[in-house]
Amino acid sequence: MAIYLDHAATTPLRPEVREAMLPYLDGVFGNPSSIHQYGREARNGLDRAREQVARAIGADPSRVYFTSGGTEADNLAIVGGATARLREGKNHVITTRIEHHAVLDACRHLERIGFDVTYLPVDRTGRVDPDELKRAVTDRTGLISVMYGNNETGTLQPVREIGEWARQRGILFHTDAVQALGMEELDVSGLPVDLLTVSGHKINGPKGAGALYIAPKAKIFPRAFGGQQERKIRPGTENVAGIVGFGKAAELATIEREEHRRHCLALRNTLLNELRRLNVPFVINGNPEHFLPHILNLGFPGADAETMLMNLDLEGVACSSGSACTSGTLQVSHVLDAMGVEEEILRSSLRFSFGYGNTEGQMKEAASLIARILQTVGQSG
Ligand SMILES: *Cc1c(COP(=O)(O)O)cnc(C)c1O
Repeated sequence: MAIYLDHAATTPLRPEVREAMLPYLDGVFGNPSSIHQYGREARNGLDRAREQVARAIGADPSRVYFTSGGTEADNLAIVGGATARLREGKNHVITTRIEHHAVLDACRHLERIGFDVTYLPVDRTGRVDPDELKRAVTDRTGLISVMYGNNETGTLQPVREIGEWARQRGILFHTDAVQALGMEELDVSGLPVDLLTVSGHKINGPKGAGALYIAPKAKIFPRAFGGQQERKIRPGTENVAGIVGFGKAAELATIEREEHRRHCLALRNTLLNELRRLNVPFVINGNPEHFLPHILNLGFPGADAETMLMNLDLEGVACSSGSACTSGTLQVSHVLDAMGVEEEILRSSLRFSFGYGNTEGQMKEAASLIARILQTVGQSG
């Protein structure tokens, strides 16, 4: 039996989500913009999903803009947010070195078109120092983007402090909360954020559906043009079935958040305790206090991550090294690199991420497989 420990890359679709989507892949095929009955039925599906996603983040439904996923929502926030402020002379953006590439590459694009971007460092645990951020702000700073929780290490960022500070200065603040949704309490009614990214397939919804929350006072430019959909911020005929599935997944994630969180924390502890019991030498790459319970990044000194990954895969355990997008190439993780993780650990680190369907028994099995693989191929790197 295979053990899936890569929930930070993507998650399996929940049966309830599939059920909710099926009518929209079948009889309810209308275009939500159409006036007739077919269109209205599709529109109802979209409306319900918007309410479900809004409730999951404490927003008013009118502030939720559906996109094709987390990447597009991040792009929209960064490029749309920064360019909207250019006319006021704001041509400086601040982000961090540990963001998802959807944010980092969008920032690189901004640099190409004339913006200045500051990439803040992080400490050894992957956390940004808010004071460092405050020092980086100039009167040209129009946008700050700091992720809620990191997808490689699980480290949580001081978003509240940064957001409050940004708000006082009238700087747009974006946070990528893709990994935090369904795990942390996300409530934009009390959290000082202007733009917040979420995605469906990281919470047992379908791939290809996500959303950007845009606060009432935040103004951003669209990145695509051509229709009235999503109030012209994200035009194009909607992925109705995908969005409906995302809505259902968001609803379930909200109802079950506490339980899911406890479950992931227990899985994490079991894996760690088993590894200790088996005398496996490892280090945790992350913050001991501020972390997402479903993401555990471990370095196995002396081992080679790629070799371990392949051997674990042969034994039926799926995890990841570096970031999912770069697996297969021998590129080190930009996140661990930014944390100043030493070469030996950098090349021996694996990410285990837990979720729906994982059991304590699987953690014990995974731990003993790790121990065995380390004994056979272990200290060769
Ligand atoms: C997966 C992920 C994204 C990208 O979301 P997609 O829906 O896959 O485009 C963005 N940010 C973080 C933190 C992620 O984990």
